[in-house]
Amino acid sequence: MSKVMIIGAGGVGNVVAQKCAQLPDTFSDIILASRTESKCIDIANGVKEKTGIIIRTAQVDADNVPELSALLKKEQPVLVINVALPYQDLTIMDACLEAGVHYMDTANYEPLDTAKFEYKWQWEYQDRFKQAGLTALLGSGFDPGATNMFTAYLAKHYFDEINEIDIIDVNGGDHGYPFATNFNPEINIREVSAECRHWENGEFVTTGPMSKKASFTCPEDVGTYNIYRMYHEELESLTLHYPTIKRAQFWMSFSENYLKHLEVLENVGMTGIEAVEYEGQKIVPIQFLAKLLPDPSTLGPRTKGNTCIGVVARGLKDGKERIMYCYQISDHEACYKEVQSQAISYTTGVPAMIGAKMMLEKHWLEPGVFNIEQFNPDPFMEDMNKHGLPWKVIELESFDLES
Ligand code: NDP
Repeated sequence: MSKVMIIGAGGVGNVVAQKCAQLPDTFSDIILASRTESKCIDIANGVKEKTGIIIRTAQVDADNVPELSALLKKEQPVLVINVALPYQDLTIMDACLEAGVHYMDTANYEPLDTAKFEYKWQWEYQDRFKQAGLTALLGSGFDPGATNMFTAYLAKHYFDEINEIDIIDVNGGDHGYPFATNFNPEINIREVSAECRHWENGEFVTTGPMSKKASFTCPEDVGTYNIYRMYHEELESLTLHYPTIKRAQFWMSFSENYLKHLEVLENVGMTGIEAVEYEGQKIVPIQFLAKLLPDPSTLGPRTKGNTCIGVVARGLKDGKERIMYCYQISDHEACYKEVQSQAISYTTGVPAMIGAKMMLEKHWLEPGVFNIEQFNPDPFMEDMNKHGLPWKVIELESFDLES
């Protein structure tokens, strides 16, 4: 019997709740807790309608450690699945330590007042989790998450050493709005407007946001897209855990329309994270903008098209160079049909459910703080095929994003 508490009732929280409820033998008791309980109740009603499973709900402010640890002590789940916002990672880890509960998340900690995300804050919890005999699993979404697993799987089965990786995240979906983000608008805009960092010969090299563009043709007729190099958190953990990697880059597709809107919003100051005073009130521009934009959890019924996210790895096998590509394609409409969410929330929520399953089934349950690629990728990759995210590995004759 495994009781879990999901924290966060947004687009990703809905998918995690739906997917956990599909596996009642593994997730025997599910509690969904968030800041706004009515959103938890809406999700619970949807889960009951789809699966017949009843999940319980609770109101909690995850920024408040005593409040959250009291709830955890009362409910005594085995594991917390954190799909609130990156700002809550540390307070949720603190509450888990206080209540003796395992922890996992899909995005690394980011301080509210600095748009810079890195693992150092969460890695500092290593000794405390070890001493408490608890596991903290970091980054079990799609990217980070499945992309780390793709790298680990390729390293294990196709290479003696990996020398270069390119993580390519294409969203070919169209929601019909002039401008909307597919996950939390504040987090999304902070991420895409940050300076780019990529790994080159043993160090991170900084370049301007979106300053490098390439064209990428996805497999299986998903199409050809403009992709832009940007920083993404898995570059930090993968280059640490695979020290043979000399170059690591992350690329994401954006439409001309998205970039045009983002540029204007940046130029007029609407993406700022510092509070400004307006008619006697303090307003943070990016938070106000997020209020105006469509809620990502409402994009599901209107989004059509595919996502294609994967890792191209170049390295050596038996002394010869080879290039392998591991990728996953999801269809927005099929995701909506199954769990009433578009594919961005779906492709994040399914790996979160699988990461939790790996911990509950004790495939991955060692005391300490771990990035997902530190564990055996095989059972996770098997479960991706079984639970809605089938993937493929192909060998490429050549690969050049420079041209
Ligand atoms: P949403 O904004 O849709 O949902 C976030 C939820 O967290 C909301 O229900 C919100 O409550 C709740 N929340 C916020 N602050 C608190 C708090 N202090 N206490 C309790 N609950 C709180 O975000 P998404 O579902 O789109 O994203 C969820 C997470 O998934 C984010 O961390 C995001 O970075 C991550 N992500 C990871 C990806 C990956 O591939 N690894 C991809 C996409 C997202 P309220 O309803 O009151 O606002």
